[in-house]
Amino acid sequence: MEKVAVYSESQVAELEEQIEAEVKYARLLDICLTGILKDALFALIPPCCVLEISDILFSALPVTIKGVPPLHLAREVFIENVGTLSNEQIKKRHAFFDVYEELVADIPTTDRPLIILDEDLEESAFYFKPANLIAFSSQLIDEFEPGDEIIKCILAHELGHSVKGHFNQNLVHRISKLASIALMSTAGMGLGMVSGNPLVALSTGVLAGVVVAIEMNYRGHLLSNQAEYEADEYSIQTLKSVSAMKRVFTYSMEKYNPSYRYLIEKGFTEEQAMRLTCAYEGDSYTHPSEWHRIQRAEKVVASLNDREIVQLEAA
Ligand SMILES: [Zn+2]
Repeated sequence: MEKVAVYSESQVAELEEQIEAEVKYARLLDICLTGILKDALFALIPPCCVLEISDILFSALPVTIKGVPPLHLAREVFIENVGTLSNEQIKKRHAFFDVYEELVADIPTTDRPLIILDEDLEESAFYFKPANLIAFSSQLIDEFEPGDEIIKCILAHELGHSVKGHFNQNLVHRISKLASIALMSTAGMGLGMVSGNPLVALSTGVLAGVVVAIEMNYRGHLLSNQAEYEADEYSIQTLKSVSAMKRVFTYSMEKYNPSYRYLIEKGFTEEQAMRLTCAYEGDSYTHPSEWHRIQRAEKVVASLNDREIVQLEAA
């Protein structure tokens, strides 16, 4: 049934503007301060710093050295483990592997991420570099028809993270953040020593460290948002359509976001409810808002069509 808009477009646009103006600075503050307590801990307690460094190093080790068991669920392994599944569920998992095989066809065999189907996953899927694997919610597979483009869209997004090397980017950022904080707080302390007062030296050191931590946290936010847009772009180019991505976001808003459901109940259309929810919640530290991602996706599809038209005209 087509939903008729109860609220006019101008009413919603006005509301959206108001909300954005109200939360803008709070959000910026939140983003810059994300992790700053952790950063402060690193600065004050050297063992924490050692822990972070060892965590970074561990993440960078190849999976074989770490002895992580071969968790991959190749179709053959999966068939051996189907014990409690119904025929319908088995059919859906086979369809899932068909989609996976189609999507990785152009990726060299050794670079293909492994897949874990996990029924306890709290999100749809995520990519995890150390083992080059994608964890995928088997609940999601059960919820949709075999081969539904929602599944393909999400899987292609996670593959995008793998293909574009986002995990390495993140690793480099974590290392340079630690190094910059250490360097700048030492430099700040050195500068403060000129006064001859150790308290002044400590204060300038901490201040310099905090300023760099804020700057680096903000950069981390931009970097990971960029990574999400790139993974989306990979998914759109693979599917050559933006409709699946819109369905993914509507699905996840409906499933995980009570504010969105509330607005729908109050008579807003899906698009209006998504815009207002996103205006209020904005971008998180790691992910742009769903509405921003849809806007971006539409631009990608438009440019894709232009390019195809240019190719057609040239032919
Ligand atoms: Zn992602």
